[in-house]
Order: sequence, then C-alpha cells, then structure tokens
Amino acid sequence: MVKNTYRSVYLSAVDALENGEIENAGFDGAVMFEEAFGVDYKTFRYSSDFDNEPDGKDLEKFVSMIKRRITGEPLQYIIGKWEFYGMEMKVGEGVLVPRQDTETLVDTVIKKSKGKKDLEIVDLCAGTGCIGLALEKHLDVKKLTFVENSLQASSYLEKNIARHGSRGEIIMGDVLSKNTLSWINQADIVVSNPPYLTKDDMDNLQTEVGFEPKQALFGGEDGLDFYRDITRLWKNKLKDGGLIAFEIGIGQENDVSEILIRHGFKNVRFYPDANDIFRVVTGENIELYTD
Ligand code: GLN
Repeated sequence: MVKNTYRSVYLSAVDALENGEIENAGFDGAVMFEEAFGVDYKTFRYSSDFDNEPDGKDLEKFVSMIKRRITGEPLQYIIGKWEFYGMEMKVGEGVLVPRQDTETLVDTVIKKSKGKKDLEIVDLCAGTGCIGLALEKHLDVKKLTFVENSLQASSYLEKNIARHGSRGEIIMGDVLSKNTLSWINQADIVVSNPPYLTKDDMDNLQTEVGFEPKQALFGGEDGLDFYRDITRLWKNKLKDGGLIAFEIGIGQENDVSEILIRHGFKNVRFYPDANDIFRVVTGENIELYTD
C-alpha cells in the first residue's frame, strides 16, 4: 500500500473538492488542512514534513471535513470560526456567518461616533455579536446590549462575548416584541443587520447560504419587514441625537431611507461597501427647531 503523506492527502482533497464543484477548492482545502493538522499551510507545504505521514486521527478529521464541505456546508461552519473586523468569531450551525459586507456597517458607525464618550449601543438581531463586539473594541462604549431571538445563535454570541472580554449583555427576545423593548434603556446607537432577503432571494439561495438559519435571512415578501418594524418600534429608544444604522440588501437603499424619513429621522444617508453596492443606511434622531 502506498503511504499517505500530507502532500498526497492535500492534493487528493483539493481534487475531491474540485470534483464536488466547490469554487475555491485550493483555498478551502488549505483552511481545513490547517484546522485538522494544526499547522500553517503556507509554511508547512515548503517543509520536509509535508512528505511525512500524518497522524491517523488528524487525517480522519481532515477527511470528514472535506466530505462535509462537498455537501455544500459552509467552510466557516466546518472550522467553527471566522474572522470579522480582525476579530475571531465562533460560528456554527444555527447562526449567520459574519460577512465582509457587514464591515461597512461597522466602519460607518465608527466614523460617525469617533470621539463620543460613554456610548450606549444596542445591536438588534445580533447573531454572533460581530457588529457590537467590533464597535466595542473601537469606540468608547459604556453599555452594550445584544438582542437575539434564537437560542442556537445566542450560544455562539455568549462564546464570542467571553472570547473578546466584552461587557455586552444578551437580551433573549424578538426585536419586534414590545416586551423586549421594555427591557432596554434609551441608547445612543441602535445598529442592526436584520434579515433582508426577499421571497425571490430565498428561492434562489447559494447552496452554502441554504445551510444558514432562514430566520436570519428572510425579511418577508419584499425583504423590508424588519426595517419597517424595527424603525417604528425602536425610534423611541434613541436618545436625542442618537443614530440608527442598518445594513441593507442590494437595491434597498431608497426604500429603507424612505422608511427612516417617514419616521422623522434626519440626515438620512446611505453608504457603499467595498464592491460599490449601497450596503448601509443611517439616520439621526435630531429635532430641528424652527422658532
Ligand atoms: N448578506 C446575507 C446574504 O446575502 C444576508 C444577511 C441578511 O439577511 N441580513 O446572504
């Protein structure tokens, strides 16, 4: 029998991924390789160890990861973590994987709030908590509250709060319930990446996204349900001068801006992500006095 080496194992894994029509087979293979064998792929592949035989247990782990990936399961779920805003977030089945697009939301809120002191922030539909945790790291935050409805998601949220030494608190509840609102004080910033995919989007999900919780993705027939209801319910939770900031889906900038304007928000603006897609809408809770 020919002996397995790290090299042969890696190459056949990438082959299997390619045959399974996984888009970035080389990249995904290397990420799972690192996770299973506990090495840095980029340096390891040039070392003589690359032609040695891997430990049987590690190999089993690697093979099972590759098999899961071929079913279309997201790479992030398989390795159990993903980086967001330079911070490691624990992820897995039942929670939305942090997207790079969402860094635009964090960037925008940081820019608008730099220099402000003792901020009180509420992160609605928090999921992993990546937004609130990144804001807490970069702003002067006195109080951080995460609202999350899913028990499964909140188990990751708890881990991420602990992992980053956050003072954030979790309120378990529906962001659209008056009950939840009654547990939360006035805040300087209400931030949210709510579910915003339309019925059509849901019928055409990428295989990987199909593994993620529908509850975190589906925003009603036109994708706008959460913007309408969050704005209506949460506008009174903002202090004077407070900021509301939403991530939005492709093409939702006018509708979401309209919702904010209709509810009395001022300075309503939208901002593009790295791909020049409008990804964030913000509004301010400012009374303009004319006397
Ligand atoms: N950005 C996610 C996607 O396109 C959707 C996340 C959300 O609905 N908030 O899959």
